[in-house]
Amino acid sequence: MITINEHYLKLQASYLFSDIAKRVNAFQQAHPEMEIIRLGIGDVTRALPPVCVEALHKATDEMAQDSTFRGYGPEQGYDFLRSAIAKNDFQSRGADIAPDEVFVSDGAKCDTGNIQEIFAADARIAIPDPVYPVYLDTNVMAGRTGQHNKGRYEGIVYLDGNADNGFIPELPAEPVDLIYLCFPNNPTGATITADQLKQWVDYAAANRAIILYDAAYEAFIRDDSLPHSIFEIEGARDVAIEFRSFSKTAGFTGTRCAYTVVPKSLTAFTASGEAHSVHSLWSRRHTTKFNGVSYPVQRAAEAVYSAAGKAQVAALIDGYMTNAGIIRDAMQELGYACVGGENSPYIWVATRSNSWEFFDMLLGKAGVVCTPGAGFGTCGEGFIRISAFNSRNNVTAAMARIRQALA
Ligand code: PLP
Repeated sequence: MITINEHYLKLQASYLFSDIAKRVNAFQQAHPEMEIIRLGIGDVTRALPPVCVEALHKATDEMAQDSTFRGYGPEQGYDFLRSAIAKNDFQSRGADIAPDEVFVSDGAKCDTGNIQEIFAADARIAIPDPVYPVYLDTNVMAGRTGQHNKGRYEGIVYLDGNADNGFIPELPAEPVDLIYLCFPNNPTGATITADQLKQWVDYAAANRAIILYDAAYEAFIRDDSLPHSIFEIEGARDVAIEFRSFSKTAGFTGTRCAYTVVPKSLTAFTASGEAHSVHSLWSRRHTTKFNGVSYPVQRAAEAVYSAAGKAQVAALIDGYMTNAGIIRDAMQELGYACVGGENSPYIWVATRSNSWEFFDMLLGKAGVVCTPGAGFGTCGEGFIRISAFNSRNNVTAAMARIRQALA
């Protein structure tokens, strides 16, 4: 008899986006004349930068000729892309990362989800709350938690984010082995300073722990003093793995390209204390289970680092960040405290009420869709996330409606 991985049965169905869709559909049916504006989504809305499209076309033409056709590429990514990443995203910021420490993939979702499998089944895991749900669910699937009880899984060390700590969790009170951090954060938009991040690096070094640092939104950082990479912090090469994505940076959510950086100096241990290279383990896992991102997509990602690419990406992000500023200013003027929106595309708004009630109120009175914070963890109750990923017209119209409805 074939039996299932029963840890899957512990997973809580995520009703967040289906519940939102149900409520939005019901509202639309009752008010067919109303044009609903969706500021709930975490997906980009603007087209790929023209340099990326040109690179895609050119690479597709190469695939059309026997003489330039390419079949399987290196699983870890082509050297042209790994070198461009190491040089532009790390070395240019003083972070000592070599091209062969970069593993190109088709998404930070897969990488942040898959990384846990190279660590022990009994590793103690610290996960922020509120959180991007992939970190938690993939550890549930792997059997690292007990049952779900009152909104939380037994066996996980939750790192609470709240208004008091500005959604930068404090160091865990008990020893942990694996720590998930995400800055700029989804859903809260919070950012971390170099000094704060150094405390985490020092904690990891002292506890022989590893930090899994999700920097999928680093391109939205405007404040020059903030670190874009954990590898800008001294000592991080020995304690951290970083995840990056072209999804939000360059509009690749539908094109798919991301990467994970695993320094060769990073070690983890056997139960008896023998040190092993994490780079070797991840390399083995990646090359066994993944067969590389398509050649045209890697050429499109490479184009992001050309002079024109950098200018086009900056303009794309500036557009979303102007939206973020409009949203943040409007909500603050209405008296709602906000986190995020200054160095991130998400604005996390304290609703002073239940987050679903506030969601219903914004939908009912203004026809605007946000995301209730409770969907991201128990600490998200009392907050909503508003996304800057939309057109300027929609954002301006949404804020005008909210002002009218709530003033
Ligand atoms: N990490 C965070 C924090 C995200 O918010 C997202 C997407 O929303 C991802 C990773 C996934 O990125 P990708 O599109 O590269 O899979």
